[in-house]
Amino acid sequence: MNLILLGPPGAGKGTQAKRIEEARGLVQLSTGDMLRAAVAAGTEVGNRAKAVMEAGELVSDDIVIGIISERIDEPDCENGFILDGFPRTVAQAEALDKLLAEKNKTLDVVIEMQVEDDPLVGRITGRFTCAKCGEGYHDEFKKPARDGICDKCGGTQMTRRADDNEETVRSRLAAYHEQTAPLIDYYGKKGVLKSIDGMKAIDEVTSQISTVLDAV
Ligand code: ADP
Ligand code: ADP
Ligand code: ZN
Repeated sequence: MNLILLGPPGAGKGTQAKRIEEARGLVQLSTGDMLRAAVAAGTEVGNRAKAVMEAGELVSDDIVIGIISERIDEPDCENGFILDGFPRTVAQAEALDKLLAEKNKTLDVVIEMQVEDDPLVGRITGRFTCAKCGEGYHDEFKKPARDGICDKCGGTQMTRRADDNEETVRSRLAAYHEQTAPLIDYYGKKGVLKSIDGMKAIDEVTSQISTVLDAV
């Protein structure tokens, strides 16, 4: 099964993608994670993306389409994948349709995570991640059982993203409403869209998604 998690920054896409990955053996494809890895490695793509990401704007379509096109050819994607943070523009969605058709793959469902803007700022400014295994946490909503120690892997180094500050979040939300929200209509018209309430607690969101996926 191949699916998209669609929603603004802080909607919970990464959190839920990791759970679906574990529960269903699908692979999470996060263009944000891939771009951050490219920035950290200092590749040409990373150098082109860095300033744009820090400003909370979108990296060019050709860069992210190129990254995804290569990634879905990898053998671990054969069982299915969860797109997290891609597509983010109508041009990316059209390119994805074309890519999937060429590769004889299908898009089974697009899950729209409906959330309100204001609480997202608090979700994002409180977000941190285990540097070792990538598990996501929150200062208030998802604390590790023991302070500073990852529940998953015991790692003790936690990181915060450079773009997870209030000012950049506002730009990212504006970019979402302008450039990404039109995808709700795009996938609605294709008949693959399912919407869930992303304002509920993390476990409740997981069960809503599970119900949707069981029906696909
Ligand atoms: P996205 O990938 O959509 O940007 P994340 O999954 O990283 O969002 O979630 C953003 C932050 O909010 C994280 O710190 C996460 O722990 C927290 N979070 C995720 N889902 C919820 C939820 N349903 N309620 C409260 N906090 C949440
Ligand atoms: P979040 O879901 O929390 O907003 P991501 O990790 O998905 O964050 O994205 C971080 C940044 O990476 C975005 O603000 C943007 O600059 C860039 N980015 C990620 N995915 C895309 C994409 N599909 N198209 C354009 N830019 C992207
Ligand atoms: Zn960890």
